[in-house]
Amino acid sequence: MLACELRSAGVSVLVLERRARPDQAIKAGSMGPLAAEAMYGLGLAAELGAAEEAATARDLALTGKAGGPREHFGGIFLDPSLASDPDRRRVRIDQPELEALLARHADRLGVEVRREHEVVGLSQDEQGVSVRVAAPGGPLQVRCAYLAGCDGHRSTVRELAGFDFVGSPAGLTGRDGVVRLAESERAKLTPGFHHTERGVFVFAGFGAQRVAAVEFDSPPDDPYAPLTLPDLQAAVRRVSGTDVVIDELVSGFVYTDEARQVTSYRAGRVLLAGDAAHIYAPFGGQGLNVGLVDAANLGWKLAAQVQGWAPEGLLDTYTVERHPVGAVLLHNTRAQAALMRPDPQSRALRELFAGLVGLEPVTRLIVDMKTGQSVRYDLGEAHPLVGTLCPDLPLGGAGGRLRERLGGQGLLLDLAGRAEVHAAAAGWSARVGTVSAKAGIDGVDALLLRPDGCVAWVLPAGAVFGEKELTSALAAWFGEGRTG
Ligand SMILES: Cc1cc2nc3c(=O)[nH]c(=O)nc-3n(C[C@H](O)[C@H](O)[C@H](O)COP(=O)(O)OP(=O)(O)OC[C@H]3O[C@@H](n4cnc5c(N)ncnc54)[C@H](O)[C@@H]3O)c2cc1C
Repeated sequence: MLACELRSAGVSVLVLERRARPDQAIKAGSMGPLAAEAMYGLGLAAELGAAEEAATARDLALTGKAGGPREHFGGIFLDPSLASDPDRRRVRIDQPELEALLARHADRLGVEVRREHEVVGLSQDEQGVSVRVAAPGGPLQVRCAYLAGCDGHRSTVRELAGFDFVGSPAGLTGRDGVVRLAESERAKLTPGFHHTERGVFVFAGFGAQRVAAVEFDSPPDDPYAPLTLPDLQAAVRRVSGTDVVIDELVSGFVYTDEARQVTSYRAGRVLLAGDAAHIYAPFGGQGLNVGLVDAANLGWKLAAQVQGWAPEGLLDTYTVERHPVGAVLLHNTRAQAALMRPDPQSRALRELFAGLVGLEPVTRLIVDMKTGQSVRYDLGEAHPLVGTLCPDLPLGGAGGRLRERLGGQGLLLDLAGRAEVHAAAAGWSARVGTVSAKAGIDGVDALLLRPDGCVAWVLPAGAVFGEKELTSALAAWFGEGRTG
């Protein structure tokens, strides 16, 4: 995702990937709306829509149901229609398909991807970063202006660059696997999410047969040991209280609730995004929504830095904006772990919480948090839309949709024929497009959006236009404009 963002902005990118082939293990079965909207900004709306349609058709064929992904908090199900904007919904896609879709796009854009290339060392100086790589043809060295560690929860880059990584230790063991079960064994397991005397047990899965067991007595002896069939079967038996026999483990994971985050997402010329920057228990399917939006936030800023037009401090706004979002993720997955424990106190808390979730404002608060709708970067502006990520609105007429119109640039959206707005932004036309549209945003005449869809300036309906406010916002995000 980050490689696509950078390449779209005209920056040359090299991806080093240690795996020989893409990972086919299903982790995420869906992703939240902000990640999807970020992908629409790359022009991937149609492909993502087709992938979702195919996945939904497969689910229907396998299960007879096309329910689509559901929203839950520690196993307490939530009504997503109560979100502030229910149209901003979770998208059903298995992670291997999502990775393949992004890989195809990277390829189209001309991103160079070298597989079986593992980062094993790095050093940085004032001009760039030297990266040591273990490759099939022997060790090699790569020199780059910036290095972005998108290398997951055990990030080598995070460790090599000496990032502070702080948080709470593991207390539970989760095992999650795509399996094959005989018909007779399948009948022993009730589909759904179950809190039992011994922990949490899930038998579900979109499409694939997927079983998971979470036990709260201790973390795994070795959190990085691969999941084995005997271990998964024993855990599922303990938690479900059945003698189920699993025929085959297709793929799976052991995980814990260790929750840590780097204190800064940047150390000089090295940056982190996704799970490399924040680890947590994968409860409630939020990792992609946060990780892909990290990439969308970083991409255009890093491109501006590399191309030399970034305003002072732009790259540091990446940590300022994304660290609080990662902190909310850690916080809510810890809360979910507490709600899932089988002890009497936690059971009582869960019942109380389930009652609260029956109240509409409580559901809205939690769904907005989980889907990212409550994300608002602190841009120091009073207008409630400034700092929020704009939804993918239809622009009316032949205007298409908002996110595709962004296309890696800023966008000044004139919703009320305010000609003075266009004139004021003319000096930034190389980096900021201007569109007159009919999209209805209550109480707004014009908006300035950054390339990641973040609202940077608003002209309220009927308000007197303050040119200086708009040009200050343009200069803050896009550098000095052309004059004359
Ligand atoms: C069981 C499970 C279920 C989940 N369900 C969901 C869900 O429903 N929804 C959701 O949004 N999220 C879910 N997640 C979380 C989601 O899978 C992660 O947030 C996501 O994979 C993180 O992406 P990433 O690119 O940051 O890291 P990764 O996906 O881990 O990718 C890192 C890449 O870096 C490569 N790499 C690592 N080290 C090196 C090195 N030294 N040199 C070169 N390459 C290297 C790896 O091979 C890998 O390809 C789930 C996770 C798990 C474990």
